[in-house]
Amino acid sequence: MRDDRTEAGATHDVIVVGSGAGALTGAVVAAADGLDTVVLERTPLLGGTSAYSGAACWLPGTQVQERAGLGDSTEAARTYLRALVGDAGADRREAFLRHAPELVARLESDPAVQFVWQAFPDYVAAPGRMDAGRSFVPRALPQEELGDLARLVRPAVDRDRAGRGHPGGPLVQGRALIGRLLLAATRTGNATVRTEHRVTGLITGNGRVTGVEARTPDGTVTVRARHGVLLAAGGFEGDAALRAEYGVPGSAAWSMAPSTATTGDLLRAAVRVGAATDLLDEAWWCLGTQRPDGSAAFTLGLRGGIVVDAAGQRFANESLPYDRMGRALAAARTPAHLVFDSRTGGALPAVTVPPADPAAHLESGVWVKADTLPELAGLIGVPADALTGTVARFNGHAADGTDPDHHRGEDPYDRFFADPRDAPGPNPCLVPLDRPPYYAARVVLSDLGTKGGLRTDARARVLDARGAPIPGLYAAGNTSASFTGRVYPGPGVPIGTAMVFASLAVRDMAL
Ligand code: FAD
Repeated sequence: MRDDRTEAGATHDVIVVGSGAGALTGAVVAAADGLDTVVLERTPLLGGTSAYSGAACWLPGTQVQERAGLGDSTEAARTYLRALVGDAGADRREAFLRHAPELVARLESDPAVQFVWQAFPDYVAAPGRMDAGRSFVPRALPQEELGDLARLVRPAVDRDRAGRGHPGGPLVQGRALIGRLLLAATRTGNATVRTEHRVTGLITGNGRVTGVEARTPDGTVTVRARHGVLLAAGGFEGDAALRAEYGVPGSAAWSMAPSTATTGDLLRAAVRVGAATDLLDEAWWCLGTQRPDGSAAFTLGLRGGIVVDAAGQRFANESLPYDRMGRALAAARTPAHLVFDSRTGGALPAVTVPPADPAAHLESGVWVKADTLPELAGLIGVPADALTGTVARFNGHAADGTDPDHHRGEDPYDRFFADPRDAPGPNPCLVPLDRPPYYAARVVLSDLGTKGGLRTDARARVLDARGAPIPGLYAAGNTSASFTGRVYPGPGVPIGTAMVFASLAVRDMAL
């Protein structure tokens, strides 16, 4: 890696804006191809939401699934995506499917980047689905291998929000992915990474984008690109005004992106030079449990409890994949609560990122506790008879092992997180609520980032209102509108698609 300052007027072959998984994949590919590449990151830390993530990569039909003996194929993934998304965006779907195996082979040809398959079912019952999942994750990365660069990688969400760095031991999940890509980019000798460079504008000349303008602690600088500018700077989930303008439900305060990092600077900048947009009201949704400080925790894998709306009624299969549960919550009467009993010892029967401290949540009032269900109903403001009726009906379903209301436990994804030891009945996803005291945790609509943005083509070129590419301008990840439309097909789609289109972008620049 080269120096950490930008001299005004610097010129590179490729400018990559942002430093998430897509951005750094683009940087690795460009730099390995011999292009002088600069990564400009707004914050002092690299990795964005990608660093917080589980780093599941949904990249079908690659050598990783082959090594794991899964029987996955590009054809099966095509069948699945077509069933979910139809043929809108078919050119981008095909580019994604074609390039994913090639990209993974290329990344893994550098020992710095290693992946391993990890079971996590695809999210929707449709032809071509892999019930055990097809996504994979990076191998853990010993911090020593990364050396001083490790301190530049954004820590896990709980530590980052508390202003703490990495614990000892290897970097895992999103931190491992960012660390590994950073290592690979650095080793090429062709990549420069600059933090605290907030790109706010695009420079144009002779009908193309030729560079960017960035704010740094030392003032505003311009950086020019001979081949192109890749915008991979996340979505606008952190910008309350843009969310309101485009009608994105939820709240910037409940989004899981690093606070103040993703405010749509590049969306605005690209629109100013004529870029078209799409899907601006969309996001990668999830259920959030409210935290004492007003933020939310990404909540998934419910293995007990029920979620009730403001009327005390269930409104969905609580074991749904998190994006679908988020969509159900967006349509529900709120406030909504996750109601659970004491069989988990007062802990939430779910996975949360960051983890929840029950005592602090109870003290702040975002969780409440009562000896009886009517008392609990009073504390959360729902009719007592409705809540007791809902729980009684659910407990009956738990005894029968079927959920005629919402079909919980019928899908492989539902059962993935279930623990048969929790459920005395025949369906491991239907765990009765019968052990007082009872708890209610307030749930809110959270997101892992917006998924609408700049319109792009199969080469990740940003398009104008007529559908023509804007020369020199490319986008990937949540800065672009996803070809998956309003569906979240499986774990790792945000990162997998960001990686592929970033790679396709820099490949196009090299032509
Ligand atoms: P980001 O990774 O957010 O990167 C954007 C970067 O751009 C940030 O560093 C930001 O500071 C920078 N930036 C913003 N504005 C500017 C500017 N003006 N100038 C310069 N830089 C700028 N997805 C998966 O696919 N698999 C998973 O396993 C997974 N798990 C998740 C787990 C958690 C807890 C969370 C929160 C999310 C998870 N997601 C997962 C979702 C996924 O992490 C994000 O949707 C994805 O990483 C977004 O990638 P991105 O490159 O678009 O943006």
